[in-house]
Amino acid sequence: MNGYFDHNATTPLHTAAREAWLRASEKHWHNPSSLYRDAGLASQQLESARERLGTLIGAEAERIVFTSGATESNNALFATLPADAVVVISAIEHPSVREATRGRNMVELPVNADGAVEFDALKNVLTSKRPALVSVMAANNESGALQPWQEMAALCRAQGVLFHTDAAQWLGKLDATKLGDCDFITGSAHKFGGSKGCGFLVLPQEDSHLGFIRGGPQEHGRRAGTENYPAIEAMVTALETLTPRLTEIEQTQSELRNAFIAALRARFDPLRVISESAPRLWNTVLMVMPEHDNLKWLTRLSRRGFSISTGSACSSGKEGSSVVVTALGASAEELKRVVRISSGWETTAADWQVLAAAFVEVFEELNRGGRPQ
Ligand code: PMP
Repeated sequence: MNGYFDHNATTPLHTAAREAWLRASEKHWHNPSSLYRDAGLASQQLESARERLGTLIGAEAERIVFTSGATESNNALFATLPADAVVVISAIEHPSVREATRGRNMVELPVNADGAVEFDALKNVLTSKRPALVSVMAANNESGALQPWQEMAALCRAQGVLFHTDAAQWLGKLDATKLGDCDFITGSAHKFGGSKGCGFLVLPQEDSHLGFIRGGPQEHGRRAGTENYPAIEAMVTALETLTPRLTEIEQTQSELRNAFIAALRARFDPLRVISESAPRLWNTVLMVMPEHDNLKWLTRLSRRGFSISTGSACSSGKEGSSVVVTALGASAEELKRVVRISSGWETTAADWQVLAAAFVEVFEELNRGGRPQ
């Protein structure tokens, strides 16, 4: 039984990624910037990984800068903008975007009842202001709701406004080949079977300016620091391995996820699933439980071997601080009942069934006054 249902927080290392990491670490551990033959080979491997990633995401390799993850990519991007630039973000962006825009001249786009960022709101902003950048994530980390990034990228392009998408939750779950249409793209390896501390930022073709982390001339002068080639190789290998299976995975996994929701509904009423009728990631269920605080659910499920979350890991410690459910106008009391479940590529029907059974057991336990049997 695999009780890990927190893949939107992080994923285990994919077997193919682990093997790629080991191979790269054993054969090409040299500094890609050094001048001898072995270093040159490491540098070639690194550039080949960049090309392969470019193919997977539909972007020219020259646009890709490897970073330590999505948080760095998002911060680096906003750091390039002039201090007085107007930036547009959505109400449900990850804290690494929200905090990076703090203190700036920022306009926030609202979400509709389905948890999708309102396209018309962007249209209105673009007629009244001239932002330097619009940033809307591809898929939301809490609800899994897919965002209209393709339409927004096209609109921004037509108006000559730069568009960024944080695709940390999209990559490895849905086809990524159209992402390259965005001017900027953020990605993070550990969300799709790569290792932690590795990610990338895609820049517009003509924009080679970054300089958030200064030092040596690595990454064509755009991000200093010796490249973590083994982690980069693992990241690209994970994405290459998952990509051909994505259509089949989406179909089978979303059916299992929906059967889980139906099983819970048969027992809990009312059960509010956020973005339930909207296009969303095949692995995510963000729900407001009918009763009992989410921490009680989490600790009791954890004792039974299940890992779930109360919103996003990045907001934990602040109980009931779901960005999405807040943006949807929930009461403080409802916020305390928010639970997020996120399955993985290999989650089975049996895994979902035992999780549903555990939810029912915990509910009965909580209704008895919290005493385990
Ligand atoms: N953006 C999104 C949408 C995320 O889900 C996360 C991880 N929770 C991040 C950014 C931050 O990623 P990293 O851990 O690579 O810094």
